[in-house]
Amino acid sequence: MLLRYRSHPLALRHAFGIASNTRTSTPAMLLEVEHAGVTGYGEASMPPYLGETPETAAAFFARAEPLLARTEDPFQLEEILPAIDALAPGNSAAKAALDIALHDWVGKKLGAPWFRLWGLNPAKTPVTSYTIGIDTPEVVRAKTREAAPYKILKVKLGRDAATDRQLVTTIREVTDVPLTVDANQGWADRAEALRLIEWLAPQNVLFIEQPMPKAALDDTAWLRERSPLPLIADESLQRIGDVPRLRGVFDGINIKLMKSTGLREAHRCIVLARALGLKVMLGCMTETSCAISAAAQLSPLVDWADLDGALLIKDDPFDGACILDGKVTLPDRPGIGAVPR
Ligand code: MG
Repeated sequence: MLLRYRSHPLALRHAFGIASNTRTSTPAMLLEVEHAGVTGYGEASMPPYLGETPETAAAFFARAEPLLARTEDPFQLEEILPAIDALAPGNSAAKAALDIALHDWVGKKLGAPWFRLWGLNPAKTPVTSYTIGIDTPEVVRAKTREAAPYKILKVKLGRDAATDRQLVTTIREVTDVPLTVDANQGWADRAEALRLIEWLAPQNVLFIEQPMPKAALDDTAWLRERSPLPLIADESLQRIGDVPRLRGVFDGINIKLMKSTGLREAHRCIVLARALGLKVMLGCMTETSCAISAAAQLSPLVDWADLDGALLIKDDPFDGACILDGKVTLPDRPGIGAVPR
């Protein structure tokens, strides 16, 4: 099996502000595996605060190359993916790129999309939220108007209480669609977090994502007992091993391929979360339609989707799953369903 990869920075359509920073592009790597005349596509998206870079991804791919070169049967994902995972700790996005490309190859070789191989109903894809980053009231107003086709808006909060309230008030001047809130660990004080959630609850807010720092599980459990809105873990969840300890702390988890090292572990996280009685959200980084289409294959299994990553970038190099009337829509193509434009 041959491996090809290249750096492909993703230019963002708008500067993207979250609790800790603002950025205008996201480093990413595009990757291809080729074997027996079939090419599978994968992608690693690496927001800088998560610690991976195009250099670390290239170094990881170089380590995986000999393993793939001696792979005679790429269908044996249960052999190949754990071997890739064991090459080095971390490198979740680089591992995801390989996992996505291998799943794409297998699906193409079988002539079936992954939603079909998993037995899922493509009519049961969820609506996706569309993210409004932290910005000035004028920009937030413009972005909210631009987001009119979407049925749920996701609001990034967590800089400070005054900015948080102003942002929600500004959006509510423009639209009454349901909101989800992502504090990105920005609320350090649990009593203040509770006051803010109580202020948000009557304003048609569905849930709060990662209100407190990722390691503050005791404070988050305290908050959950009192919160009128469900709490969803994002930064507190990285790999599948984190899921059991989140029961009783959060009401649900936000799974992203770039954290879970790809589709295989993401699918297992969903199964495990269901067994533990947790709600499931499927999220993304800013990504092309390659990784978004891969995630979309799992979307009929989840309660909420936040798969707007490809809508936030300029010049998407892939055509794949799209958002029609606010709903994730799966193309009837084999593999992950994405093709280069
Ligand atoms: Mg989040």
